[in-house]
Amino acid sequence: MQGTFEERRYLIPFRSSLLPQIFTDVLVVGAGVAGARAAIEAGAAGADVIVLAKDSIRQTNTAYAQGGIAGVLRDDDSIDAHFKDTLAAGAGLCDEPAVRLVVEQGPARIRELLEWGMQFDRDGSGELCVGREGGHRAFRVYHAFGDATGRELERCLFEKLMSTDNVRYFDECFALDLITPSDEVGAPVLGAITYHARFGLQMIWARTTILASGGAGQLYRETTNPKPATADGLAMAYRAGATVADMAFVQFHPTTLYLPGAGRSLISEAVRGEGAYLLDESENRFMLHEHEMAELAPRDVVARSIVRQLARQGGRHVWLDCRHIQGFASRFPGITAELKRFELDPSKDLIPVHPAAHYMIGGVRCDLEGKTDVPGLLVAGEVASTGLHGANRLASNSLLEGLVFGKITGAAAAETAAANGNRSGPVAVVSDIRPSDHGEIDLADVRSSLRSAMWRNVGIERAGGKLADAVEMLKFWARYTLDKIFDEPFGWETQNMLVVGSLVARSAAWREESRGAHTRVEYEGPVERFRVHDLRCRGEAEPRTLRVETEELV
Ligand SMILES: Cc1cc2nc3c(=O)[nH]c(=O)nc-3n(C[C@H](O)[C@H](O)[C@H](O)COP(=O)(O)OP(=O)(O)OC[C@H]3O[C@@H](n4cnc5c(N)ncnc54)[C@H](O)[C@@H]3O)c2cc1C
Repeated sequence: MQGTFEERRYLIPFRSSLLPQIFTDVLVVGAGVAGARAAIEAGAAGADVIVLAKDSIRQTNTAYAQGGIAGVLRDDDSIDAHFKDTLAAGAGLCDEPAVRLVVEQGPARIRELLEWGMQFDRDGSGELCVGREGGHRAFRVYHAFGDATGRELERCLFEKLMSTDNVRYFDECFALDLITPSDEVGAPVLGAITYHARFGLQMIWARTTILASGGAGQLYRETTNPKPATADGLAMAYRAGATVADMAFVQFHPTTLYLPGAGRSLISEAVRGEGAYLLDESENRFMLHEHEMAELAPRDVVARSIVRQLARQGGRHVWLDCRHIQGFASRFPGITAELKRFELDPSKDLIPVHPAAHYMIGGVRCDLEGKTDVPGLLVAGEVASTGLHGANRLASNSLLEGLVFGKITGAAAAETAAANGNRSGPVAVVSDIRPSDHGEIDLADVRSSLRSAMWRNVGIERAGGKLADAVEMLKFWARYTLDKIFDEPFGWETQNMLVVGSLVARSAAWREESRGAHTRVEYEGPVERFRVHDLRCRGEAEPRTLRVETEELV
């Protein structure tokens, strides 16, 4: 990475000894599916746990999830089939051991949710309802309240979390940076420096820190993600010396509601799973000519097909046709209510849809225990790169991954706490930042320009020239933004977005092939020499690569 992005180890100046000190065994940053599941596990195993979240549990990617959780619970499905579907979507970049682990442990995690009182949808005879989504060749997606799976999952996990011994929950507490005793890459993480509007800056010292800070959708002008998804965890981990992997890979969801002035609400893949059609301006099903699975092709295929269809026909959206789906309103009550706000009735009207940034596939590289290459730092959920998703995430696999890796990292952190007698810290950490002599730049403008540039230049279809432009633009804005000292989250988030936006753009420029969610217009398909993870670490000018070993022929 370029110097501008490397200069700061911390976002703000501080002296640890002058701040309030808090001690815990396990610090979990994030209270979505991954963080909550990790904290439940660690607390239940006897570790002292602090969970922090910068915003309400209703504003997590988890709470926004609609479609469901994928898992093999039926006799007419198999672990092997789920494994193969995941590999097929991942387009040659999945790490097979990670895929095996998640699909094998997934069913137990879903059954556990049933025991904890999660209200999955059931049919008249009390059997669990099961849906199908793009890329799945079997019905294996379990959902709740029709299209409110994430909300019900957060409710269930949060109630469980609050009744778990040894857990403290810090609401609206913003993690600025992970603390290391020195600035050297490889120095262990000892906790985090945090900010709370009422309590100000605090040092939280922990034996193990689990980063479960979610995604990065706000990097893009068009996104399904809620406002807090500003890539803080990725930026924090990068500054702390952790390796990030496969940052080029961002999944774009094909179908978000496209109405000028309205937010980009998701129209779940499950709607296409129930038989909805995508229509062009002449009301023809164009996906029939694009892929054998038509509307249920993997997301990257559908998103690209929509972009190309729009290039052919002009305009800003295609149509989603649900008029023939029986019982739409009871299966998708949330979507029906959202459409009603705009006077759209899915039983009568065509719905205007357009793709939007949805899921950050790249992340902080970790092993099968969620361990990063920085001692003391584990990762779980969307912020992590476990190798499960490869070059493209299979629908409904991410809640599953959060559950599986949440439990694994929580258990590992509790084990460290039990094995290690002394609590970490306090260590004297000093962050000295010289005042900048660069001019001022409007922060809101930077954020909005960054999001537009990412959408236009680092979006669904990418080209070398535009990617190079994006890299330069981000560098320019960074020069006038990363040198400043802010005292509230909007500034810190924007700084984090610049760091991570640059990682995404640079990785996309480096990857001269089209694979999974990453499409380069100059390159027709995958190139064998790029069947590697690209790994980036602070202080390294060029990415390292790690060959992906594949035994399965997909
Ligand atoms: C609209 C939508 C629909 C989706 N549908 C599905 C689906 O049907 N099935 C599926 O499997 N996946 C779905 N996904 C993806 C899935 O929801 C996410 O990948 C998953 O929930 C991520 O969980 P997480 O715990 O990693 O992060 P999140 O749930 O996003 O939680 C992140 C947590 O980190 C906290 N945080 C972030 N930064 C900081 C900071 N600096 N300081 C303190 N706290 C911080 C946040 O406040 C939050 O508590 C969907 C995503 C969206 C947006």
